[in-house]
Amino acid sequence: MINCLLCLQPVKQSASWELSWFLSEEVLCCSDCIAGFEKLTGPLCNMCSRESSDEFCKDCQGREFFLDSNRSLYQYNDFAKEYMKKFKFQGDYIIGAIFQKELKKYFAANKTTIVPIPVSEVRKLERGFNQTTAILNQSNLHYEELLAKKHSEKQSKKTKRERLETEQVFYVDEEIGSSEKEIILFDDIYTTGSTLNLAAQALKESGVKKVSSLTIFR
Ligand SMILES: [Zn+2]
Ligand SMILES: [Zn+2]
Repeated sequence: MINCLLCLQPVKQSASWELSWFLSEEVLCCSDCIAGFEKLTGPLCNMCSRESSDEFCKDCQGREFFLDSNRSLYQYNDFAKEYMKKFKFQGDYIIGAIFQKELKKYFAANKTTIVPIPVSEVRKLERGFNQTTAILNQSNLHYEELLAKKHSEKQSKKTKRERLETEQVFYVDEEIGSSEKEIILFDDIYTTGSTLNLAAQALKESGVKKVSSLTIFR
C-alpha cells in the first residue's frame, strides 16, 4: 500500500492501479487529489493558453511578445494554489514529482532544449531549492540552465500592473552555441506572462530564434 503524496491517505489499488504498476508508472497521488487539478481543455488562446473562444485572448491582443507561445496544463484553481503553497513556500520538495508523467509526454513530443526559469541565488538559499529545476529533476528531464536571475523584490508582493512593467532581471549565463537554437522555457505558473516574456527577451537578444514555454498552471 502506498500513500498519496498530497493528502497522505492510502491509495486504493484498483484495476488501473495494477495496470500502471505493470507499466511501471509510479503512482504518486490518489484519484481524489488528481481530480482536484482541472485540465485546461480549451479552446485556448494561441498565445498564452488561457481559455478563450478568440484566437488570442483579450490580454494578448495587441501585446508585443518576445515569447512565441505558451502552453499550460492545468487551471490555477484553489486546489492548485494549495499545492503550490505546500510545494514552493512550505518546501515540500517531494510533491514536485506529481506532474512527471505529463511533462515527460509533453517534452517527448516537443524535442527542444528545456530551459527552466531560474530564481535568484538569494531566493534559492531561502527556499532551499528552485521550484522549476526541482520539478524537472523529479521528472528525470534533461535541461540546460542557460538563464540566471538577478535578485529583486519578491514578485508576489507587487501588484499585477507593477509585475507587467518589471525591468529585465534575467541574463544568459553561458554562451549559446547556435543562433538557430529553439528553446522551451519551463515555469510553474503563467500569471501575467511577464516573467516568461522577459526570459524570452534575454534569450532572443543572445541569438535564440524561437522561444516557447510550458507551465503547469495558468
Ligand atoms: Zn490524495
Ligand atoms: Zn492570451
